[in-house]
Amino acid sequence: MTNLVGLLESLSNAFGPPGCEDEVRNTLRKELEEYADETRVDKLGNIFFYKHGKQGLPRVMLAAHMDEVGFIVTFIDNKGFLRFQTVGGITSTVIPGQTILLRGTKGDIEGLVGTKPPHLMKEEKRNKAVAIEELFIDVGASNPKEAEQKGIEIGTTGVFNVKFAELGEGYVKGKALDDRAGCTVLAEVFKALKDSPYNIVAVGTVQEEMGLRGARTAAWQVDPDYALALEGTFAADVPGFSPETESSKLREGPVVTILDQSVIAHPTVLKTLIKVGKEYAIPFQFKKVPRGGTDSGAIHLTKAGIPSGTVAVPCRYIHGPASIAHVDDVKNTVRLVTEFVKAISEKSM
Ligand SMILES: [Zn+2]
Repeated sequence: MTNLVGLLESLSNAFGPPGCEDEVRNTLRKELEEYADETRVDKLGNIFFYKHGKQGLPRVMLAAHMDEVGFIVTFIDNKGFLRFQTVGGITSTVIPGQTILLRGTKGDIEGLVGTKPPHLMKEEKRNKAVAIEELFIDVGASNPKEAEQKGIEIGTTGVFNVKFAELGEGYVKGKALDDRAGCTVLAEVFKALKDSPYNIVAVGTVQEEMGLRGARTAAWQVDPDYALALEGTFAADVPGFSPETESSKLREGPVVTILDQSVIAHPTVLKTLIKVGKEYAIPFQFKKVPRGGTDSGAIHLTKAGIPSGTVAVPCRYIHGPASIAHVDDVKNTVRLVTEFVKAISEKSM
């Protein structure tokens, strides 16, 4: 068992673009297997930790996606430069100049997304974003053969090469806090409820960033009575945003979704979250900009419909190279979700 920040660090540093979630899955398995009555992995790679409780109580599914936005090599040109596509929503503005960690057949390799020196740029192009098609990764190879000798091939995947760091005062910086913050909450809630009588299925899902894909098949298998997606959501409490456009703020607690582009929180789920937040004096905030989607978008439409909602840790700069979050928000999200599971499980069906 690792402490919360230690777990967040290992999860953040783990390599996990969509479809390549193995390292994140293994980290979760190592952390939770001993607490679970049953652990299994499905064909797509979703991992399920079951806690079998009292019969007659509802089954509650908690889902956090293991994948992170990343890159995939699509072509190696005759000078050895790698052309790529992004997997998950990354804007081309945050990519130039970044170091990318590529997982080749012979191990991990660092590559640099090349940029044109300003000296060689036309005046009108200097401060403009570059299209992804014009970008390339330089791994220090002068032809395709040299790139291949390093273990790079078409289909090699990569992520932003950023290591987790504590910034002091509870602030942390790391890649993939969307959704390794949610994975941390998933693990901590599951551990906190190990001796409870409730029926809980904690799921690490795959390929959320490609359209909530793993959650769809996971929910079908679990067929829960209630579900909650645990996320890292955008906070924009930074220069350039007004209170209504910043969506969420650091240090104001878990972000509860009323609606986004994928789901309207089910009234029972939403009311229960608000109730336990107030009852246990856990700070929480509502998501103010209803953009994006989460695993609950796929989960709530499964089979005959599953009452679902989303609770997230506020994180600045998600879908960029690194995010900043606050440990208090992670801890308060754990508290809110733990109390939610207790309250919704005690509800008469
Ligand atoms: Zn996410």
